[in-house]
Amino acid sequence: MAGKNHYDIVIVGAGPAGLMAAIAASEAGARTLVIDKGNKPGRKLGISGGGRCNVTNAADLDTLIRHLPGNGRFLYSALSRFGSREIIAFFEGLGIRLKEEDRGRMFPVTDKAKTVVDALVAEVKRRGAELRLQTPVRRILYENGAAVGVELTTDEVIRSRAVILATGGKSVPQTGSTGDGYPWAKQAGHTVTELFPTEVPLLSEEPYIKSRELQGLSLRDVGLTVWNGKGKPAITHVGDLLFTHFGLSGPIALRCSQFVVKELRGSRKAESGRTSPNEGAGEASGSTPSVRLTLDLFPNKTRDEVNREFLKLSEAEPKKAIKNVLRGSLPERLIPLLLGQTGLAGDTTYANLPRQTLSDLATLAKAFPIAVTGTLSLEEAFVTGGGIHLKEINPSTMESKLTAGLYFCGEILDVHGYTGGYNITAAFSSGFAAGSAAAERSCEDRT
Ligand SMILES: Cc1cc2nc3c(=O)[nH]c(=O)nc-3n(C[C@H](O)[C@H](O)[C@H](O)COP(=O)(O)OP(=O)(O)OC[C@H]3O[C@@H](n4cnc5c(N)ncnc54)[C@H](O)[C@@H]3O)c2cc1C
Repeated sequence: MAGKNHYDIVIVGAGPAGLMAAIAASEAGARTLVIDKGNKPGRKLGISGGGRCNVTNAADLDTLIRHLPGNGRFLYSALSRFGSREIIAFFEGLGIRLKEEDRGRMFPVTDKAKTVVDALVAEVKRRGAELRLQTPVRRILYENGAAVGVELTTDEVIRSRAVILATGGKSVPQTGSTGDGYPWAKQAGHTVTELFPTEVPLLSEEPYIKSRELQGLSLRDVGLTVWNGKGKPAITHVGDLLFTHFGLSGPIALRCSQFVVKELRGSRKAESGRTSPNEGAGEASGSTPSVRLTLDLFPNKTRDEVNREFLKLSEAEPKKAIKNVLRGSLPERLIPLLLGQTGLAGDTTYANLPRQTLSDLATLAKAFPIAVTGTLSLEEAFVTGGGIHLKEINPSTMESKLTAGLYFCGEILDVHGYTGGYNITAAFSSGFAAGSAAAERSCEDRT
């Protein structure tokens, strides 16, 4: 197949998945076109990692998969072939020096996402693939059970031997990720699992949130646990947390968010089909459904150790009011709230300190309850959960099991991970797999 509007492979979406697919496909000898509706490629990549582009994570394969809690195992084969080590080598091969920061996060030494995006685009072109911007695709063309090209919104038709859908999720739609790929996949017989926001701030209607008394309070190295409807911990993350005017944000709130979404979804389903008494996750009948979270201010200490620490501090300064004593151990802005909840008067001194109340304070400092009622929207989330059902996709090639010549990669898949470079790694890795496999298929077709 040759000619102006004939390609071996058409890739829709010039995010990390589509650009890497184009590089792999053209490297394997396929005549490749990447199309994006935006005026710039890699717009979301450009704002990732705070605008510095968290290009990958230096973690090993098992750790990568653990940090992709949304079906990361599906990418085992793709990540084994093209994982973080290969991504790092790939960029260094392009002359882009990377540096490792906390928790294995890799960034360009320039601290500019543009360095990464420009290098990817230059490599796409160097390998001979074409890139068309400001070119929205309207639909995918299917004939006799195979993907055979795309139709643009200008009515122009581009024919190809394979089509790769790399249109991303639905989060932050101003970057171009508006979920266009899902209906195209459905048309090819695919199931799209329920979409939901992940890596997203949490909402709470607790009085201390509504009063905004904690707004802006940032806590380092604390623990956050999401409890399920059976009263068991669903997940605990340790790290930094930020109180906002609507609830919780910061790395561990984002990491917990997908578990909150799942618990809320579960409790809503249970509520609609429930005949037995309410046993949902922290929800009272008639009130806004909520999920119970607890904040651990001392994740590296037991409750008894915290209790002993409080007692020791108070004993060391017997004339000092407890509210001032605790400043050495607790975030200052939390002290009135914790004292209020335990009923301990702030001016109590060591001589009249009720031991049981102090012990209650330690319990509260280890498990401060926060009822969470939801999250910000899918559009406001960093990542989209859910996507193309993985049972319908070959995990080695990313090819549809239902429609020949149709491939998927990146966030459109029902795979999602924590921020920290894991989603971008998943996009590069699945993009590489799809591009290589589609090229192999189209080159076989040619012979
Ligand atoms: C603010 C922010 C920060 C983030 N930080 C991190 C982080 O630190 N670590 C991490 O791992 N992940 C992070 N992510 C997530 C990560 O950026 C995405 O998972 C990743 O970009 C997905 O890549 P993709 O190629 O699948 O899709 P996208 O990057 O979403 O690209 C899809 C492309 O498809 C194009 N497109 C869509 N529809 C059409 C159409 N009809 N015609 C033509 N083109 C179309 C779009 O214009 C877009 O350019 C962050 C996301 C956001 C929003």
